[in-house]
Amino acid sequence: MKEDEQTEENEQTESVDTELKVEKLLAEEMSTARQAYEKLLEVSETWQKENATRLSTWKRGIAVSEAKARSYFTLEQLPEDAVLDLWEKLNAAVEAENSYEAMQEMLSEYKAYGKIRDQVQLTRLYFALSGVARLAKAQLEPERLETAGQDWEHSICPVCGEETRLALLAPPVGKRYRFCQTCGHEWATKRVGCILCGSEQASEQNYLHSEEYPGVEIVVCHNCGDYFKEFDLREHALADYVWEDMRTLPLNFAAEQWLAEAAKTSGKLS
Ligand SMILES: [Zn+2]
Ligand SMILES: [Zn+2]
Repeated sequence: MKEDEQTEENEQTESVDTELKVEKLLAEEMSTARQAYEKLLEVSETWQKENATRLSTWKRGIAVSEAKARSYFTLEQLPEDAVLDLWEKLNAAVEAENSYEAMQEMLSEYKAYGKIRDQVQLTRLYFALSGVARLAKAQLEPERLETAGQDWEHSICPVCGEETRLALLAPPVGKRYRFCQTCGHEWATKRVGCILCGSEQASEQNYLHSEEYPGVEIVVCHNCGDYFKEFDLREHALADYVWEDMRTLPLNFAAEQWLAEAAKTSGKLS
């Protein structure tokens, strides 16, 4: 064997080793993330059960909208004491120290800007808002829930008013639903096109997928310059769409990169 070939082979072996190491690290990170997710979910679900009977005290805090163009409620309208109560429990579950006042301040920050600087707290705040939204959704009459999403042209959730970026293709024929990660509401939607801007021009959308994530597609839309995720449940049955969305986050990064590249190219052309 020539020296050159020898070196090349060594390099290849090394790169395979590095890849395996990276994969192992990612797998470990993912399993830690999964454990953290399950813990927070359990706290939230327990809290929802425990507070189901306390609903009447909070119910007055939420005025369910009758208007066709508006969602039944918004996260803004959720009772703050309930959000803070659940948030405190989520913090306690992971032994994070935070004063009630600090949480109140962060909640105001979130309401004003739609985000908070503390990323770790943001995850738990999001869990808290989602938990209370699910509790609020549970008080809606069943017929209201059934009709939520009919003749609904908006990209926000008809129940909680949050933006949704998930579509589901259900067996057996691939009927398309939209899923709200915040309150868990599902409603039927058009089979084709962009769920964000409504464009039905097939040439406007690109579908990105990776062999690593069977049954998951990212739909990139040129009309609105945005993207959403689609889970084909015929190909891959799922128990928890919220977790699946988190697990497949690398696809979001790929889509963002892809959109940034596309923007650069179109910038050069014009
Ligand atoms: Zn919702
Ligand atoms: Zn679009």
